[in-house]
Amino acid sequence: AVAQTAQARLVRYEPEHGQKIRDRRLLDLALRQALKRDEFYLLYQPQIDLKSGEMVGLEALLRWRHPELGIVSPADFIPLAEETGLIVQIGEWILHEACRQVAQWRWQGRISINVSAVQFQQGNLVAAVHNALVASGLPPHRLDIEITESMNIASDPANLEILHQLSDMGVRIAMDDFGTGYSSLSYLHSLPIHKIKIDQSFVRNLPNAQSEVIIETTIIMAQRLGKTVIAEGVETKQQRDYLASVGCDVGQGYLFGRPSFAIELALDQTSAA
Ligand code: C2E
Ligand code: MG
Ligand code: MG
Ligand code: MG
Repeated sequence: AVAQTAQARLVRYEPEHGQKIRDRRLLDLALRQALKRDEFYLLYQPQIDLKSGEMVGLEALLRWRHPELGIVSPADFIPLAEETGLIVQIGEWILHEACRQVAQWRWQGRISINVSAVQFQQGNLVAAVHNALVASGLPPHRLDIEITESMNIASDPANLEILHQLSDMGVRIAMDDFGTGYSSLSYLHSLPIHKIKIDQSFVRNLPNAQSEVIIETTIIMAQRLGKTVIAEGVETKQQRDYLASVGCDVGQGYLFGRPSFAIELALDQTSAA
């Protein structure tokens, strides 16, 4: 609780200008040290095939264990890391760490990694992904890169080129938080995007007539365009049963498992196991 208060003080300021700058500098400094001091780690959340019940994928989710602040949520530090550009370095660490871990496991499913728009603009994302795959030995077809709808990815032709290069490598692209931004499915059809992740806000509302219209329309259109559909934020059996009944391919959420350490998922065995 003490750590949480300290974190709240550091991150959730509502102060006059000087205070804000100082706190942001502190946070930025702490983030830079976090990389050097190895304070970041990844949790993994299961993605379940709704027909077979099989765990077909895992999403890597970043965490920061600060020595005094405790566990800091990505929502509290990724925005600043994006502003300062540090997310490029952090993002490369995430790619390497996730690919390295997953390549060691006996489990042969897919790993899904979130990337920031800043990694498209400032980093060499294609090289970073390529390097992580080569260093780990993970085959490209086991990697999904999650981009969010809010990135407005097609606004810059350079982004499109990156998506095509990743796709040509065999990596698949997932559109995260779908339904919260501006893109229509017909527009997505022109992009190399293989998966649609229905935002958890629609799932949370279930049962709800309006959410059901959006979910069912998304599924029908996405599947007819040849894309896989994942529902995020599945917390109840009722939500799962409904999603399965309307043909949603994959579910992710607390019902199936919280973001967990690899060891808790019992996937951290080598092929000898
Ligand atoms: P996201 O990519 O949409 O990730 C899903 C978020 O929903 C995760 O929050 C996850 O813990 C949470 N979640 C999963 N199932 C449920 C559920 O059933 N109910 C509820 N209420 N929540 C659920 P988390 O881990 O705090 O991450 C928040 C956001 O931070 C992510 O949203 C993503 O945008 C960003 N993020 C997390 N890890 C990374 C990363 O490695 N790189 C980048 N660039 N962004 C990341
Ligand atoms: Mg995601
Ligand atoms: Mg999401
Ligand atoms: Mg998100």
